[in-house]
Amino acid sequence: SLELKNLTMAYGDIEVLRNVSLTVAPGTTTCIIGPSGSGKSTLLRGVNRLHEPKSGDVVLAGDSALKVNPDILRSRIGMVFQHFNLFPDHTALENVALALWSVKKMSKAEARERARRRLAEVGLAERADHRPRDLSGGQQQRVAIARALAMEPEVMLFDEATSALDPELVKGVLTLMASLAKRGMTMVVVTHEMGFARKVADQVVFMDEGEVVESGTPAEIFDNPRSERLQRFLSEVL
Ligand code: ATP
Ligand code: MG
Repeated sequence: SLELKNLTMAYGDIEVLRNVSLTVAPGTTTCIIGPSGSGKSTLLRGVNRLHEPKSGDVVLAGDSALKVNPDILRSRIGMVFQHFNLFPDHTALENVALALWSVKKMSKAEARERARRRLAEVGLAERADHRPRDLSGGQQQRVAIARALAMEPEVMLFDEATSALDPELVKGVLTLMASLAKRGMTMVVVTHEMGFARKVADQVVFMDEGEVVESGTPAEIFDNPRSERLQRFLSEVL
C-alpha cells in the first residue's frame, strides 16, 4: 500500500500542501481531482521526492519513503507526466530499455527483450524503432507508460497524462490506463477526466488549496458531494 501521513509541503516559505493524509490500498486506483493550483502535482512530487516534503511521511509497502534512498524509491514508483519526457534521440525501444540496463543492471539483450514485450503490451510492437518525433502524442505517452511499467513498479503515478494530447488521442491512453487498473496495478491518477475517475477509480480525492476537502467512492464524490467547494468544482467541470 501507499500511505501519506500528514504530508505538508512548501516552496520556500509558502505551504502549498497541508496535512494531507490518504491511503491507497494495493491493487486499487485513486484519482485526485481539484482546481488548478490546489497542490495535486506537488503531492505526487512529494511521493517520489522530486520535491522534499516539509513534514509528515510517505509509507510505501511499510517503508518510510523519506528514509529510502531516492533513486531506489523512484525505481519502485513509476511516474508518467503530462509531457512525456522521452529521450528525443532514442527509439521507442531504447527509451523503454535504457533504465533496465542502467538502473536494473540487466544485460542489454535482456533489457531489449523486456522492452519489446512492454511495447507490445501497449500496442506499439510495430513502432519500436521509431523516434519520439515520428510518433503521435498518444503513442509517445504509451511509450512513456511502457517505460515506467518495464521497471515493475509497486505504484504508478500519473500527472495529467492525457492533458497535452489532441482530443482524438486521449481515449487510447485512458483505455490503457483503465486496463492497468483492471489488472491490479496500484495507481494514483491526477486527472481532469471525470469520466475516467468515475468509471475506474476505487477512491476519488478532491483537493482544494492544498488540502484534501473530501474523499470517497466515485458515487459519493460525483453523485453526493457534501462540501460546497466540491459542489462548485463539479458544477464548473461537469
Ligand atoms: P494544475 O491543475 O494547474 O496542474 P496543481 O493542483 O497540480 O495545479 P501544483 O502544481 O501542485 O498544483 O501547485 C500548487 C501551488 O504551488 C500553486 O500555488 C503553485 O503556484 C505553487 N507551485 C508549484 N510549483 C512551484 C514551484 N516550483 N515554486 C513555487 N511555487 C510552486
Ligand atoms: Mg499539476
